[in-house]
Amino acid sequence: MVGVIGDPVSHSRSPAMHNAAFEALEMDWVYVPFHVRASDLRSAVAGFQALGIRGVNATIPHKTALLSLVTELSPEAEFIGAVNTLVFESAGKIYGDNTDARGFVAAMDEAGIERPCEQKVVVLGAGGAARAIVAALVNVGVREIVIVNRTASKAESFAEEIAVRTTVKAIGIPLVEEALRIACRDAALLVNATAGGMDGVDPLLFCADGMLPPMVVYDIVYTPPETPLLKVAAANGCRTLNGLGMLVHQGALAFEQWTGIRPPVNVMTDALVASL
Ligand code: NAP
Repeated sequence: MVGVIGDPVSHSRSPAMHNAAFEALEMDWVYVPFHVRASDLRSAVAGFQALGIRGVNATIPHKTALLSLVTELSPEAEFIGAVNTLVFESAGKIYGDNTDARGFVAAMDEAGIERPCEQKVVVLGAGGAARAIVAALVNVGVREIVIVNRTASKAESFAEEIAVRTTVKAIGIPLVEEALRIACRDAALLVNATAGGMDGVDPLLFCADGMLPPMVVYDIVYTPPETPLLKVAAANGCRTLNGLGMLVHQGALAFEQWTGIRPPVNVMTDALVASL
């Protein structure tokens, strides 16, 4: 048994995705959504371990709190400051990983988009998803990262942290039209890792004029499949990618950690699309 913990958790598409893969592989496994409140997290983790559950994914609000409950942490989870996958090993070991970063790159690879090695990239957002994407981009070997965020102080402190912890050049700027347009000028990749653009107010479109080929525009939001940002980017002739592949691949990577088996990504994608 594996599953996902969250509060709320009923909205999670992960059970559909993982159970479809188990069925396709004829594996006698099940993936269950567990509603766990923040105050019950420690006892829930101890309970999973005692019951012999193999692992769980974590969603809001547990990703940060799990950092202190694991016995071993992957370097990516440590950099991101959040755990999205727990693996319960024998002898009381609890391994905490974050598969979002590798899922982000796997989706690019699958789409045939070249990794932006030695290039400049622009990341919109400074929250948990942006941290995962920056971890991925650092591993890919980008030259420069511009963090753009509505709350400018968060962009600046995150950029300072990147510059201190890695060899990548990083700057943080506010989400304002002129600055964003300049930042986009010679960037190979623009990534939206904010929750903006979903509520009618769309400051992300500040960079509309700056999105020109050969820049690739990657919006990790997946509902709707073509976000306003991607619509404008495609109309400008840019190659675009939404967040569906990242969601599937972060799940596939967790599946592989728990079972040792590479799941059928196409089956997981179909199940996810059907559930959406
Ligand atoms: P988070 O930690 O809460 O961070 C939210 C970020 O969005 C912050 O940078 C915030 O800016 C910004 N933001 C929120 N509303 C905005 C608006 N109206 N205009 C401009 N910026 C706005 O959330 P998260 O976990 O990073 O998730 C961010 C998005 O990524 C969500 O839409 C989530 O669904 C998506 N996501 C997708 C995947 C995937 O697998 N495809 C994985 C993870 C997340 P401030 O700092 O100014 O508040």
